[in-house]
Amino acid sequence: MKAVVTGGAGFIGSHLCDRLVAQGHEVVVLDDLSTGSLQNLVQLEGSPGFRFVQGDILDRDLVDDLVSHADTVFHLAAAVGVYNIVDAPLRSLRINLHGTENVVEAAVRHRVPYMVASTSEVYGKNDADGLKEDDDRIYGSPTKSRWSYAAAKGLDELVAYVHGSESGVPCVITRFFNVVGPRQTGRYGMVVPRFVDQALAGRPITVYGTGTQRRCFGSVFDVVPGMLELMDTPAAYNRAVNLGGHEEVSIKGLADRVVELTGSDSEIVYIDYDEAYGEGYEDMQRRYPDTSLAKDLIGYEPTRDLNAIIN
Ligand code: NAD
Repeated sequence: MKAVVTGGAGFIGSHLCDRLVAQGHEVVVLDDLSTGSLQNLVQLEGSPGFRFVQGDILDRDLVDDLVSHADTVFHLAAAVGVYNIVDAPLRSLRINLHGTENVVEAAVRHRVPYMVASTSEVYGKNDADGLKEDDDRIYGSPTKSRWSYAAAKGLDELVAYVHGSESGVPCVITRFFNVVGPRQTGRYGMVVPRFVDQALAGRPITVYGTGTQRRCFGSVFDVVPGMLELMDTPAAYNRAVNLGGHEEVSIKGLADRVVELTGSDSEIVYIDYDEAYGEGYEDMQRRYPDTSLAKDLIGYEPTRDLNAIIN
């Protein structure tokens, strides 16, 4: 099988490439190296059938050409990370909307099964009693560019789904919940690598907000096999499927755990959301995935706990 992996030089994409190559597949990576790195792919250099193409998913002709020679497409390229999205809202929106449209349209045009990476953020966070026009928890709030990521990913799902159902070309949408593991960088706001970097450098560990917000972290070594199995499972076609972990921890608890596991003497400091992300920012208190659909479809069961993930 010949697979195209967009965003293959990134964190999740590079682990997916490792697995595809190990299974004997030919892999073509399309990545603009904006947040990814060739360093993530050095182990695959020289592997038979492996090829890296530096390019942009906004380049429609390039995408079409690569997809036209593929048997399957994994679309992971996206503008990710809070800092990235807030710093370049328009470019992020373009990549996450039109880039996905290019990939999905090419897949459907050439009748190549495709997977589109989505996010838990599509579940939103609006639990307010009275809904106000300036509520920063809605996706489409024109003044809150941070949520353009969730808004674009929600539309990506729709684009993937509508094309998939109209064309009959197999399509799987994977909703990732805080995936972590080796090669993830803390540069764009991802909390686990950021805490680990700070702890190892002996710098203060910066918790945004009160630290009482709770999250579940899923290992990339659970999520990647899940993606591959879903693509081989017709019952998963044209569905959005949650993939993540089950061990829930508060962000303060995560910071404590990182200090303990790294043996660091870093202190834990608290920074207001306003200071970290700009005025009016709020975050959801809890995000916990129900992965029963993935379990029903492919027997998905996360195997790695948080300590194993941090280590
Ligand atoms: P990542 O930044 O490591 O990977 C994204 C890759 O896309 C990078 O290699 C980057 O260089 C590439 N890219 C960005 N814009 C591009 C463009 N215009 N053209 C070509 N390549 C481009 O991030 P990741 O964590 O590996 O995320 C992979 C996918 O999973 C993304 O779609 C992301 O939205 C989704 N996701 C990840 C998580 C998570 O917890 N890591 C959670 C939810 C969703």
